[in-house]
Amino acid sequence: MSLLTLAGVTKEYQNGDEVVQVLKGLDLAIQPGELVALVGPSGSGKSTLLQIVGLLDNPTGGSIWLDGEDCTSMNDKQRTMLRREALGFVYQFHHLLPEFTAFENVVLPQALTSISDADAADRAEELLSKLGLEHRMDHRPAKLSGGERQRVAIARALANHPKLLLADEPTGNLDPDTAEEAFQEFLRLSREEGLSALVATHNLELAERMDRVVSLKGGVLVEGGQD
Ligand code: ADP
Repeated sequence: MSLLTLAGVTKEYQNGDEVVQVLKGLDLAIQPGELVALVGPSGSGKSTLLQIVGLLDNPTGGSIWLDGEDCTSMNDKQRTMLRREALGFVYQFHHLLPEFTAFENVVLPQALTSISDADAADRAEELLSKLGLEHRMDHRPAKLSGGERQRVAIARALANHPKLLLADEPTGNLDPDTAEEAFQEFLRLSREEGLSALVATHNLELAERMDRVVSLKGGVLVEGGQD
């Protein structure tokens, strides 16, 4: 069974008098452990799609199944619970909490679950070590490089063992070498943890290292990169 299934998803925005149809009956299935790159020109609807898959915004029409559950008719509380259980997020900007250390930034999201403090600390250490940050755990974000901050953001997204990781231009704010390194780490760790991912990126070279590339064109998804 697919981990994520979108069927006939539509999304319209009202812009003044005008209705803008961004998604026009989009279908997508992501299997457990599958890493999928999402490409498409600026304004094609990649962020809109990630918001919908992230259960942060409702589609205008169509259906969404995540981890065996029909999200279409869920109320806000049910969506928040499923989001916490099944999803992890990485954004273009790290959004780490500046007053907390790298270690604390990865421990904190686990406080929302039933995990013990000791296990949360172990998980944070494990992830940060796997991302080569064992010597940076006690540093605040301001004392970390851009690449290191983004790796902490990846560790934070994985802290609660999500099934599906959603990322919007996760390396878009890094120089090419640092982006390459951070992306490698992200792919390695995702595979190690058996995660699925949907990653919006402008970088086709990075996209093609994932299992599959889908492109947003005219409000629907087509297999493969842009031509
Ligand atoms: P991408 O991430 O591919 O750059 P977006 O999903 O951000 O594309 O935007 C897709 C289209 O939807 C754009 O034309 C954008 O202006 C429009 N859009 C996005 N969010 C809103 C909103 N809240 N209200 C009105 N229009 C929006």
